[in-house]
Amino acid sequence: MNLNTKTAHELHKLLQSKEISAVELAENIFSQIDKTETEIGAYLTITKDNALKTAKAVDEKISRGEKISALEGIPCAVKDNICTQGIKTTCASKILENFIPPYNATAWQKLQAENPVLIGKTNLDEFAMGGSTENSAYHVTKNPHDLNRVPGGSSGGSAAAVAGGEAIFALGSDTGGSIRQPASFCGVVGLKPTYGRVSRYGLVAYGSSLDQIGPITRDVADCATVLNEIAGFDEMDSTSVNTELPDFTKALVADVKNLKIGLPKEYFIKGIDSEVENSVRNAAKIFENLGAEIVEISLPHTEYAISTYYLIAPAEAATNLERYDGVSYGERVDGVDVVEMMTNTRTEKFGEEVKRRILIGNYALSAGYYDAYYLKALKVRTLIQKDFTDAFKTIDLILAPTAPTPAFKLGEMTSDPLKMYLQDVFTVPLNLAGLPGISIPCAMTQNNLPIGFQLIGKALDEMTILKAAYTFEQNN
Ligand code: GLN
Repeated sequence: MNLNTKTAHELHKLLQSKEISAVELAENIFSQIDKTETEIGAYLTITKDNALKTAKAVDEKISRGEKISALEGIPCAVKDNICTQGIKTTCASKILENFIPPYNATAWQKLQAENPVLIGKTNLDEFAMGGSTENSAYHVTKNPHDLNRVPGGSSGGSAAAVAGGEAIFALGSDTGGSIRQPASFCGVVGLKPTYGRVSRYGLVAYGSSLDQIGPITRDVADCATVLNEIAGFDEMDSTSVNTELPDFTKALVADVKNLKIGLPKEYFIKGIDSEVENSVRNAAKIFENLGAEIVEISLPHTEYAISTYYLIAPAEAATNLERYDGVSYGERVDGVDVVEMMTNTRTEKFGEEVKRRILIGNYALSAGYYDAYYLKALKVRTLIQKDFTDAFKTIDLILAPTAPTPAFKLGEMTSDPLKMYLQDVFTVPLNLAGLPGISIPCAMTQNNLPIGFQLIGKALDEMTILKAAYTFEQNN
């Protein structure tokens, strides 16, 4: 049986009924890794011994006749910017090459309590800065659908692992699209929860007012199950939201009648790939046939989202990355005095893109430029937020492309950072607004590349997003 392409909920049934064992399932994943990992490069660290130990313990529990939880024994992968106690967490950076966190990120701590089988830590763009996973200091990750193409980024390793049968589900992080865009490029489901829904404690900070951890899965049902386990208030993250949590699996009802879905006209612009545009418009028709009402809406400040994001995110990144000074965290490169030591450390151990962001961020924050750049960006952020608030007065959800194109070729954009940044045009607005969004697969291009679309919801309304996504999935 081909276990490594099944969903967590299918595998859960097979495990509980003893048709398969957790060790067999883990071994199935590792044999896929043996076959494809040298090409795909989804992982930075593989934790095989621990994985088999966990799987064995789950099997013992089943053989004692005990019930297992939904994710127990299910192979998963975790992005390497999420702290895992005792397991290297490098952020794909040389500066954290040997960093072994002494604690768990809350999201992983909660998930781990469910006993999934951790297969390993996945590759990313260094410190999650990028959209192709080509900025990793270790190796590039390739798209399992076409090895000449990128898997997207920055959670490219997580998306490629799930798409390539090297994990059943994964955790990613999304600051400006890093869960949704790779999910779209790799033909899997990726959810960025509402800002504050999932604790950021132990997620290595990139843009603290934007970052969120979320699930990357094979289908919407698994996405709801994983979200159930990682969401919730955490006193270690003062920005996490303290409200009652719904059971997200209750959203798995195929019904979009009475839902009003908006198509933002600013998201169907010149430059968007025609196959992407057609499949998103087709998705709108499918929703309409299923009983939803589709209306055109306007989010007038969309065109400023990229410039706003690329000031705020680097400004926060420059501040967050100050801690890598060769003293408190990470690697050190010696020098004759402390200033030279810090300079050498940061010059040698940070990659090009990270340095570019530090420069942009510190420039935007410096006296004399602060008002013109950073403060201005904050004001525009408010306008972008207001666009969504106004739109959501009359609609329930927004339907839009996830990315303007399907997966692009390896190396195609590395020499032109601006071109790479423009890829984020449809994903960054909701990070700026703090809203939840899912990307789900909707079609394949003529070249057999996956296309995804995005459903954006009101703050804390992941339920409606999951319900509509589930309905589409059941009817596509
Ligand atoms: N591509 C965007 C960036 O480089 C988003 C990255 C992310 O969401 N972590 O900032």
